[in-house]
Amino acid sequence: MVAALCPTCSLCCNGVLHRWTRVFPGEEALLERLGLEKVVRDGTPCFDQPCPRLAEPLCTVYADRPRTCRTYHCALLQKVEAGTVDVAAAQRDIAAARAAIDRIRAALSLPAGATPWPAVTALLEALAAAPDPIAARRKHAKLLADVATLELLARARFLPPQPP
Ligand code: SF4
Ligand code: SF4
Repeated sequence: MVAALCPTCSLCCNGVLHRWTRVFPGEEALLERLGLEKVVRDGTPCFDQPCPRLAEPLCTVYADRPRTCRTYHCALLQKVEAGTVDVAAAQRDIAAARAAIDRIRAALSLPAGATPWPAVTALLEALAAAPDPIAARRKHAKLLADVATLELLARARFLPPQPP
């Protein structure tokens, strides 16, 4: 199932779903070889996303990738593997997410591969601080719709269910 979904996706590597990737003890030499900088986030050893070894949508070090990358299966992939979501439906969700990312990057003039969230957060703060926040949001209605779509897809399809 990985082959049917992941090569067109990379949402778990490009910073859309996660801010960092966990590193396990003993992977220091591997990280150095791959040019991945080990940092600590929320008390967890990791490297930051978007991953510098990602050339969207593909991992450039796939055969040598760290343990988290080898074992991570997002909720969507797990559901396809369990047979509760069919491959075509999952591919449609991936395509919709990727299209939203492309439009958000274009609207915000972000470079290829950039994680959209920091720029989206900055925009939302600017809109909230505008003299007429409603008019300001209306001007960016298409972009905000894409942001809402991407957030919804990430939460409802790719990430594990959150506790109520
Ligand atoms: S987010 Fe899921 S489907 Fe996409 S690359 Fe990661 S594991 Fe594969
Ligand atoms: S090493 Fe490869 S699989 Fe792991 S986060 Fe980077 S691009 Fe993704």
